[in-house]
Amino acid sequence: MGSVKINNLTKEFNDVKALKDINLDIQEGEFFALLGPSGCGKTTTMRCIAGFENPTMGEILIGDKKVKDIPANKRNCGMVFQSYALFPHFNVFENVAYSLNIKELNNSNVFSKLGIYARLLNRKFGKPPKHIEEKVMEILDYVELTPYVNRLTSELSGGQQQRVALARALVMEPAVLLMDEPLSNLDQKLRHSMRNTIRRIQQDLGITTIFVTHDQEEAMSMADRVAVMDHGEVIQIGTPTDIYSHPKSSFIANFVGTSNVLKGKVIKRDTNETTVQGNGFTLRSIANPKKEEVDMIIRPEHIQVFLMDTDVSNEFNNTMNGKILVSTYLGSIVRYDIQVNDYTLVADATYSSGANILKEGTPVKLVIDSERVLLI
Ligand code: ATP
Repeated sequence: MGSVKINNLTKEFNDVKALKDINLDIQEGEFFALLGPSGCGKTTTMRCIAGFENPTMGEILIGDKKVKDIPANKRNCGMVFQSYALFPHFNVFENVAYSLNIKELNNSNVFSKLGIYARLLNRKFGKPPKHIEEKVMEILDYVELTPYVNRLTSELSGGQQQRVALARALVMEPAVLLMDEPLSNLDQKLRHSMRNTIRRIQQDLGITTIFVTHDQEEAMSMADRVAVMDHGEVIQIGTPTDIYSHPKSSFIANFVGTSNVLKGKVIKRDTNETTVQGNGFTLRSIANPKKEEVDMIIRPEHIQVFLMDTDVSNEFNNTMNGKILVSTYLGSIVRYDIQVNDYTLVADATYSSGANILKEGTPVKLVIDSERVLLI
């Protein structure tokens, strides 16, 4: 059983409150991301689950077992770290086989123990038993490392080392796989392909996976659900689309994707619409906030950019006038920084080849659908 339940978890390091009353309910087979800025408590949460830290308060259950009195090596959690933590003097096979050998060692009699010790210390002293060899080769094939089986891990690329680390965790068939910023040391392109590899393996094996990252794109593209953390607290839990479309705060809206945040005050409430006025603009939204002072959140892709003389009248639309400050071509989109009164708004326009990119200084009309203005 690989579900993980965390009830009222608090962790203090002297006067630092690293975790404040965390509650999480992670389903068996789920890919769950802990997302948040540096120092928000992601790693501490992970280390409490793994058994490397003792909670100050609260309880953790893996499956239906409370793990308080279960040591780290008996919790059936596999761990993959940012730093890989491989043995540089062992080859790929030996790194992956290591934990299986140790398990064998713990379960064997004194004579077999001597043989296993000798083999671990010096590879000339015999081959591993067939069942270990088969299991290791199977998992190496799975992570596409068969050609590198005899290479020292110090002779592998970062992506290959990370796959060894993954294989080493998976070979133990853990109930829960814990991954702490596993892709941070890889370059952009490799990170992208490793995301797909990890997701594919996780889905094939159906293994409950908890993935720590400060990279929102990573969390959003890989996880079934995401917990956003800040200052030791979980501030929102949801599917990536939930969190992106309905962020609970401006902090989350900014952390998960890019957002334009405008401060304003409600000046009119109609049945289907709220009108909000800020410094130099008035916008309508279909949201019905409880508060009067609100943050208006507008995603860059929800601002349409037109040349000033375009007719864009539509009863659901908000319009604003502005001027292009910067145009950045990003391949499939063009990102415009646009001056509107005292604000700089960011708008993303899809780019198709041959289209004109608006130049710096161009006067523009911005259109924002009232359905797309969130009020928080
Ligand atoms: P990062 O993304 O930078 O790794 P994080 O979100 O994983 O950060 P944690 O490593 O969990 O954050 O740290 C949470 C808080 O607890 C931080 O303020 C950190 O300084 C503090 N902390 C973590 N470990 C210890 C420790 N062993 N002793 C004292 N304070 C600690």
